[in-house]
Amino acid sequence: MNEIEARIVELREKIEEANYRYYVLDDPTISDAEYDELMRELRSLEEQHPELITPDSPTQRVGAAVDQSTFAAVEHLRPLFSLDNAESMADLEAWADRVRRGLGHDPSGYAVELKIDGLAVVLVYEDGRFVRGATRGDGTVGEDITANLRTLDQVPKRLRGDDVPSLLEVRGEVYMSYEAFEELNRRQAEAGQRLFTNPRNAAAGSVRMKDASITASRQLGIWIYQAGIIEGGPSLATHTETMAYLAGLGFPVNPRSSRVDDLAGVEAYVKDAEEHRHDLEYQTDGVVVKVDSLAEQDALGFTARAPRWAIAYKFPPEERTTKLLDIQINVGRTGAATPYAILEPVFVGGANVSRATLHNQDQIALKDIRIGDQVVVRRAGDVIPEVVGPVVAARTGEERVWQMPANCPFCGHPIVRPEGEAVARCTGGFECPSRLREWLFHFAGRGGMDIEHLGYRTIDLLLEKGLIRGPADLFTFDTRALLEEEGWGETSVANLEKAIDAARNRPPARLLTALGIRHVGSTMARRLIRHFGSIPALLDAPLEEIAAVEGVGEVIAREVKRWASDPANRELIDRLAAAGVQMGEEKAPSAGGGPLEGVTLVVSGTLEGFTREEAEAAIEAAGGRATGSVSAKTTALVVGESPGASKVNRATELGIPIIDEATFVRLLEEGPAVLEG
Ligand code: NAD
Repeated sequence: MNEIEARIVELREKIEEANYRYYVLDDPTISDAEYDELMRELRSLEEQHPELITPDSPTQRVGAAVDQSTFAAVEHLRPLFSLDNAESMADLEAWADRVRRGLGHDPSGYAVELKIDGLAVVLVYEDGRFVRGATRGDGTVGEDITANLRTLDQVPKRLRGDDVPSLLEVRGEVYMSYEAFEELNRRQAEAGQRLFTNPRNAAAGSVRMKDASITASRQLGIWIYQAGIIEGGPSLATHTETMAYLAGLGFPVNPRSSRVDDLAGVEAYVKDAEEHRHDLEYQTDGVVVKVDSLAEQDALGFTARAPRWAIAYKFPPEERTTKLLDIQINVGRTGAATPYAILEPVFVGGANVSRATLHNQDQIALKDIRIGDQVVVRRAGDVIPEVVGPVVAARTGEERVWQMPANCPFCGHPIVRPEGEAVARCTGGFECPSRLREWLFHFAGRGGMDIEHLGYRTIDLLLEKGLIRGPADLFTFDTRALLEEEGWGETSVANLEKAIDAARNRPPARLLTALGIRHVGSTMARRLIRHFGSIPALLDAPLEEIAAVEGVGEVIAREVKRWASDPANRELIDRLAAAGVQMGEEKAPSAGGGPLEGVTLVVSGTLEGFTREEAEAAIEAAGGRATGSVSAKTTALVVGESPGASKVNRATELGIPIIDEATFVRLLEEGPAVLEG
């Protein structure tokens, strides 16, 4: 056997094994892209050496033999086929050329459809009744999954209309939406069961269940994309007409299917489908292009495994398998230690990926991801690359279970995981260089103080040169020292100085957000500053007072107090204040007094002279409290136009005074005595 023959044998074995794992076990060990590469290599070797083609080569056959231990075998009325693949516009053009040559002219039009990534099935109807459903199997013999398919709401059990054929065989794709897939994996995790790597495997695994009641619980959908046999129905001339007829009989036909006149139309459809593939609620892996005229389809016919009149354009792959070389951790701005994967570089989703997120410690344990594993890596659209899961079947025994390190690799302080929390944290505070860097990036970033020109690059430079050691230094460091650095001149330094200066005068709620206290995002920060007026007043306030602010509550109040009780944080505030950063002004309520001291008001409906926020601010400025719901502690309900009925009812029930805007204005000035009059 020469080298080429040996390679052909090797490729066939690999592909057979992959087919078995994919079609029978629903648990592939290589990605589709890798499978397609093996097939391409085999096909090209066979083209160069046609004498080596055997009828049992995977290039000449469809799918894999059926699993007769679980399902009965059924012979298809007509053989089912696979599709030839195109990977580029050039491949599509080459196919269109072959079609033109086959017909002697251009086809009269093309049907274009999304290629749904699921499991191919065939449904048979006799006199309008669903009698049998099967998997594609090897194209000639499939698995009888009638009972399973019956559980799908979208599979019509009886066809609609007057023009029902006596015998009908249709083909379609069973799929699982992303939402159903996530829900299923959530349930699998709860039950300690194996997670599915993608919606296709989940759909295929779910429909090929011995127990059909499990299939019923899995929220599967189906799109019908092809008629096999229609006996005794209307006469149909095109694929598009056929699909419209099937839709009329009650079959789900994908609404994004279309018809175009020429190859330019095909290319536009493909481009659009690829651009919008992540807007859909289900997974697609390409576009199927079919010659629309049924007469032209007949004239073109089939090769051993696929029609000549159709082709599948495959989107660039978003999942690949590669080796997980190591697991390391990042320490973020809150000290959270997040594991990530170091990978053998792999081209996926249009980029080279060598790092990917592993989410958190629990996910690693749940998915049983080990160092040295072959893992599935996914990079879809703009989403950060992630490790989907290990390929357990590819293990050699050399893999190592990973554990969160006991000490932070950046600062050496212990990493602890408080009981009941999902996240482990570095305890090094700002002594941890990783945490400091991330904290500064957040502090200066858009969501925080919004200091232009202060991204990771500049922050890294400032830290590296020792120009800053902590957050407050950002406002005091020697900016002139930057002039010695490459890429920095008078203009860029002046721009940075201007940006830093501008940040000194940001509203205090922005500074509060930038501090990154847990649970204190921008809305919460505005709420707290509206009540307390300044950051020092907030930090000094008793826990109960913070918790009592409308929409705040115990949990957040505790986080604020915890932050405030750390002397390093207080020092930071003092230093920021000393550097001229605006902290806000203390407000009347904490200074005590005001006509509304001890008064709690609820405002409902539209007032003429105040917006809701202004009314609340006026109450607080007068020393009172504004809350969102009526309770026994409410002093009065202020109503404007169209107040909330439930608030009015509740106030009436509790005997709480309901007052109009004019009374409210007097109340603000004169205090609760107004209510007694
Ligand atoms: P295919 O998936 O390339 O194309 C044919 C199939 O496309 C049809 O059978 C049908 O199920 C589906 N399809 C979806 N929408 C359609 C539409 N609108 N019109 C017509 N068909 C539509 O070919 P295949 O023979 O089913 O499978 C081969 C592919 O399966 C490979 O290219 C690879 O992606 C994957 N595979 C992967 C592994 C693995 O180990 N990862 C193993 C075997 C197969």
